[in-house]
Amino acid sequence: MKRREFVGASLALTAAMPFRAWSAVLKNVADVAAKSLDGADVTLRGSSVEALAASLRGDVLLPGNPDYDRTRRVWNGMFDKHPALIVRCTGASDVRHAVDFAREHQLLTAVRAGGHSVSGKSSCDGGLVIDLQSMQGVRVDPEARRAFLESGSLLGQLDHECTAFGLATTAGTFSDTGAAGLTLSGGFGRLGRRFGLACDNVASFDIVTADGRFLRASDDENADLYWGLRGGGGNFGVVTSIEYRLHRVNPIILGGFIAWPFDQARAAARFHRDIAMDAPEAVNLFPVLYWEDNTPFFGVEVCWSGDHAEGEEWLKSLRALGKPAMDSIGLMPYVKLQSSGDATAPHGIRSYAKNGFLGGLSDDGIDLMLDVFARTPGLYDMFCDHCGGAYSRVSLDSTAFPRRDMKFVLAIWSGWPTSEGIDEKVAQMRAAWRELEPLTKGFYTNYAGADTVAAGYRDNFGANFERLVALKAKYDPMNLFRLNANVPPKI
Ligand SMILES: Cc1cc2nc3c(=O)[nH]c(=O)nc-3n(C[C@H](O)[C@H](O)[C@H](O)COP(=O)(O)OP(=O)(O)OC[C@H]3O[C@@H](n4cnc5c(N)ncnc54)[C@H](O)[C@@H]3O)c2cc1C
Repeated sequence: MKRREFVGASLALTAAMPFRAWSAVLKNVADVAAKSLDGADVTLRGSSVEALAASLRGDVLLPGNPDYDRTRRVWNGMFDKHPALIVRCTGASDVRHAVDFAREHQLLTAVRAGGHSVSGKSSCDGGLVIDLQSMQGVRVDPEARRAFLESGSLLGQLDHECTAFGLATTAGTFSDTGAAGLTLSGGFGRLGRRFGLACDNVASFDIVTADGRFLRASDDENADLYWGLRGGGGNFGVVTSIEYRLHRVNPIILGGFIAWPFDQARAAARFHRDIAMDAPEAVNLFPVLYWEDNTPFFGVEVCWSGDHAEGEEWLKSLRALGKPAMDSIGLMPYVKLQSSGDATAPHGIRSYAKNGFLGGLSDDGIDLMLDVFARTPGLYDMFCDHCGGAYSRVSLDSTAFPRRDMKFVLAIWSGWPTSEGIDEKVAQMRAAWRELEPLTKGFYTNYAGADTVAAGYRDNFGANFERLVALKAKYDPMNLFRLNANVPPKI
């Protein structure tokens, strides 16, 4: 089945399904106080909100509606935002109506897929949230090695469908992260050194742009947009579906975690650095400094997705290092490793993170990291994503993703169950990062927190920035989609 036929079939199915209740219930709506794009107060006529609801198969949720409170919440509990209205879309048609409404009323607009935004930008106060959580589904074409994903789907759904056919593509390391947000700004994952970033594996996007048009972006159609959507984030519209290229991957991988007491961390971290730089592409190493029962450890999560015997052989030197405090590396389903961290970052956790790319890592750099970590007990994790391999084989100008020549992404992360003492804890994190930041060059957009300023994003896009600005001027000249790693429509 060709791609076009698939889209047609899914829309036909949508049209045949009965309308859900909300559009019928939204009657006699009072005028709604909202925020415009530039933050001014605006009033939405109740009748226009009713008309919007009537145009949808999904729902319009207003404050006080059942589901409003649950739906407005995002993963990062630091952000407790109250949008004026939430449009719960069921497909591209609803998305078009929502985008038209937002544009015509010049409303502050957020787009939400999996809701994992570290910076909380997938919700807003007083604006409109275009919510894609009802748009979930993945269809795999095993012969063509393609997955067609509705843009509200989570990574676990993508992995689950693909692995049944012995296929996979690069996805992030937590199964409840949204595929769309992760992919649009890059997408690091355990298969990335073999197959590149998640965005490098996209064959096409379907998107509703700011003017309400439904476009396909691929090598053959709207190639400029296809370039910008692979790393440029949510700047150009609302992506409604993503077509991924898939690869043969044994559903059973060699993976797990090995950790050493902190007094061995220096030697273990140096050893990791040395083997990581030139490691086979079948392996992804994820080193992390963490606390358990108030005791610091250095560990490395391993995912070897190649031949098992070769992997066992390669791992011997890592396993022979010092006296590990634990070693759980063994054969396991890839999808099990992919969801192994989920419980450590539950929905609603108050989260703060900082990150930066590392071009390399000196002995002094490692010493600094260990020292900062040991002095910052409020810091939950310090970790490094493993780059190189296929990430680096993609040239800088062939996608909008800003860095291709880096070795690692260094990040610090904390998550607190309550907001008690949070300002002081965040201040500790900022102080820790001030010491580490000089080691880094640029940052990974998807890990950037709310305190990343517009100029920071501009500098970070570097050589790709001007091309992104031209695209923004073409596809979103009013900057309707500004709650993201925002690119302005003119410099
Ligand atoms: C626990 C956790 C683990 C993570 N692990 C990884 C990892 O392993 N690798 C990695 O690379 N990143 C990882 N991230 C970062 C993650 O990639 C980003 O947080 C990403 O934005 C999440 O996507 P989402 O769809 O869940 O987020 P959302 O909050 O729904 O969206 C984030 C932003 O993406 C844009 N967006 C989302 N959907 C669309 C759409 N359909 N059309 C247009 N714009 C859209 C919007 O600008 C939105 O503000 C992790 C984050 C968390 C919280």
